[in-house]
Formats: sequence, structure tokens, C-alpha cells
Amino acid sequence: MDIKNSSISTIKIEDRTFYIKRDDLVDPFLAGNKYRKLYSLLQIPPNKYNKIISYGGTQSNAMLAIAALCNKKGWEFIYYTKPLAKILKEQRYGNYSCALSLGMKHIELGHNHYREYIASLRLGLDSKTFMIDQGGADVSAKEGLNVLAQEIRSADIDTKSLATPSGTGTTALYLAQALPEYKIYTVPCVGDAIYLKKQMQALYEIPENLIVLNPNKKYHFAKPYPEFLTIYKKLLDAGIEFDLLYAPSMWLSLLEHTKEDLLYIHSGGVTGNESMLQRYKSKNILPL
Ligand SMILES: *Cc1c(COP(=O)(O)O)cnc(C)c1O
Repeated sequence: MDIKNSSISTIKIEDRTFYIKRDDLVDPFLAGNKYRKLYSLLQIPPNKYNKIISYGGTQSNAMLAIAALCNKKGWEFIYYTKPLAKILKEQRYGNYSCALSLGMKHIELGHNHYREYIASLRLGLDSKTFMIDQGGADVSAKEGLNVLAQEIRSADIDTKSLATPSGTGTTALYLAQALPEYKIYTVPCVGDAIYLKKQMQALYEIPENLIVLNPNKKYHFAKPYPEFLTIYKKLLDAGIEFDLLYAPSMWLSLLEHTKEDLLYIHSGGVTGNESMLQRYKSKNILPL
């Protein structure tokens, strides 16, 4: 699975046609922007490392992608999180159980020690161990996103606008940098626009062609909202399943704040939908 030029589909939503870059179809587990962000590690010969360390959320898409990468390479994968939710401990599900079955070793850290412990890990790394920051927010992500940019450019579609929702902002930032002739729309899905811009600036100066749209309402990451379910179902009916964490807010903003034809980068993450849909069900949240 070295070089994969993902295809481009089109869907019709509210009488508008959107191009969709199908990065979700690259691989069952190592897909979407996580595939792009891990691309440079994927090119490395297996004997260069024997262990990868990372940390973050217990249902994270990045965690699952790294687990799949390490499984392919024969590398040990140690993943640190804050204490597991009780329900996840009792009944493993979603990305977490998938990552465990791919060989991930999970270590829980107490809330009080978490930050300090993660910082100390970085200091003690040996030459065979590589540490990936939460969500893959790392300059090493640039190489794979440049490949994505090149694919977009050579597809030569009829628009110079594209959209990708942000967690760390790594994807949107490096895409904007690699595609100065395009307008890149994004929305903050973790925290607000100010926090997102801060995270981006830690990696690189924010390019002028990057447009951060503000959601109409403050959404908390990974919480269920009826309007998210509505747009998720609308997109599903139009023919493509998107993730329930990032995509809904991006689509709501695009439909409200843009008019032009757009290319949407489908960053995968649909493996997490099963557990999210269960939460919608258990909270009895229905589409609007
Ligand atoms: C990780 C992820 C994002 C956020 O990517 P960043 O580079 O951290 O901004 C967006 N969409 C999906 C589906 C993801 O898995």
C-alpha cells in the first residue's frame, strides 16, 4: 500500500454538487488524513525502528491508524491515555478494540501525572523508538500531505476551493501551504478558532489561502448533536458515509457559508461511527 492515488467521487447535497476526494478508501484502518500524516513513516524500512510511542484519546482515529502502521511494520506500539471510561473498560468497542487487536499496548496514566509523564517520555527515547504527538501533529506529516496536494493538482477538477475539518489543524495547514492556488476552508472541531490557529502556528505560519470558518454554535468535540445526525444521514442518503466527529460541522459550515463548487477531502474515520451512533441511540438523540 505504498502509493495510492485515491479516487474522486461527486455527490449532490441541497442542489449543489461536491467533489469528494476518497482518502477514506485507502485502507480499512490506515486511511484518510492519518494515512497522509503517517506516510513518511510508512516509507521507512521496518528495521529503522522497533517501537512507536503515542498518546491521546481512547477512540482516536490517529491511534487506530498508528496501530495499523505498526502492525504492518512489525513495530511495537505503546499508547498512553488518561484513565479509560468505565464502560470502555467493561466492554471494549470501536477504534479502541480494533487497535488492541492490531497489537497496540495500552497504558493508562492518572490525570495528575499525564502531562508530566508524556513530557518525560520524549526525553528518554532511544534511537529505535519514534514518538508521535497526539493526533499526528508533527512536521513529518508534511511529506504525505504534499503527496495529497500533488494528487489534487493533477486531478485538475473544475474548482480551486477545497475543504477539510480540523482537529490539530495539521492537515489544513500543510495542504494550504502546498496548494497556494487553492482556497482551503476548515472549521475548528476541537476547541475554538483561536485555539486552532495557535496549534497551527506552532507548526508553521498560517498561509493566507487558509480560511477558518466559525461554526454557528459552540460544539464540544465528540458530543452528539441532532443537527450532526441530520447532515450525516443526508450525506449517507446522497451516497457516502462520513465520520460523525469532524465532518458534520464542516458540512454545516460549508452549506451555510460558501456558494462555490468545492472538493471535500474525505479523511475517513467512519470506523468510529458505530460507537458514536450507539451514543446517539442511548441518549435518544434523533435527527432534526
Ligand atoms: C484526525 C481527523 C481530522 C483532523 O485532522 P487534523 O490534521 O488533526 O486537523 C479530521 N477528520 C477526520 C475524519 C480525522 O480522523
